[in-house]
Amino acid sequence: AKSLGKARCEFCDPGMQTQALQSLALETDLRHAVERGDFIVHFQPIVSLGEDCITGFEGLVRWQRNGALVAPDDFIPIAEDTGQIHLIDMQVLYTACCQLVQWGIDHPEMPLTISTNLSARQLTRPGLVDEVQTILAGTGVPASQVRLEITETATLGNLDELIETLHQLKALGISLAMDDFGTGYSSLSYLHRLPLDILKIDRSFVSGLDHDEYSQRLVQTVIHMARNLGLEAVAEGVESHTHAATLRALGCTLAQGYYYSPPVDAASATALLSGDVLV
Ligand code: C2E
Ligand code: CA
Ligand code: CA
Ligand code: CA
Repeated sequence: AKSLGKARCEFCDPGMQTQALQSLALETDLRHAVERGDFIVHFQPIVSLGEDCITGFEGLVRWQRNGALVAPDDFIPIAEDTGQIHLIDMQVLYTACCQLVQWGIDHPEMPLTISTNLSARQLTRPGLVDEVQTILAGTGVPASQVRLEITETATLGNLDELIETLHQLKALGISLAMDDFGTGYSSLSYLHRLPLDILKIDRSFVSGLDHDEYSQRLVQTVIHMARNLGLEAVAEGVESHTHAATLRALGCTLAQGYYYSPPVDAASATALLSGDVLV
């Protein structure tokens, strides 16, 4: 019995078993959540650094699971593996477009932009462009006020196919952003071939602005490069007045981060629009 105990297989380890069961439960729950549409969207303002006003919002998914809100990092990777991510992304886009239509009615004086995230794996999925078009038409949202954020990743696959899809999305009238810029792979070699409008500077670079000069130069280089490519730069993860001031001095025009507001529910986002609550 002693030797058996030592040689026991790892799957019989009670800890491992619990973990495996938990992730199975998560996967099953996620499948049901996708069927029922148990997701809500939180909105984080994107602010003009020049005018300190809200130019739009990024819609970020939250999963309402058993009364608690689950953050995307805890289920997006699973949804990507199981292929359910496209259903989530389209639900989020739909919800965000409906919200934008509502804001357009309440605040016709400020045309906002709504951004949502598109898992890069979907760019090769047949039907994607048609689905986006259906959502735009179905909600009646002005396409020029809709933006999709795509994360740069190593698995972008066939470049020509990717570029073709991006052009088809652009042809719908929407704009495109490269998300988390600077964290992916070898993008500099083909960046100029992608029909992008926005570069989002990853927050890891912005958080370095406090302590080191290297980060400042890096961020400045990205801002200049964006401008040379005819793109606008959005700084992510702006958490302090110093961040905002430095970015403004470096010529960055748009910012997003906790300094202005964390992602909040639709009602609170609407309150941000009508109130004078921004810093
Ligand atoms: P992301 O697209 O880069 O979104 C920004 C993330 O940074 C959000 O986390 C936001 O809450 C967080 N953030 C914003 N400002 C600050 C700040 O000042 N400091 C810090 N430390 N963090 C800040 P969240 O909402 O947890 O989303 C995480 C990631 O999950 C997103 O990163 C995005 O890649 C993914 N994601 C979210 N919603 C969706 C979705 O609907 N579809 C897909 N495919 N991915 C999504
Ligand atoms: Ca994003
Ligand atoms: Ca990002
Ligand atoms: Ca990110």
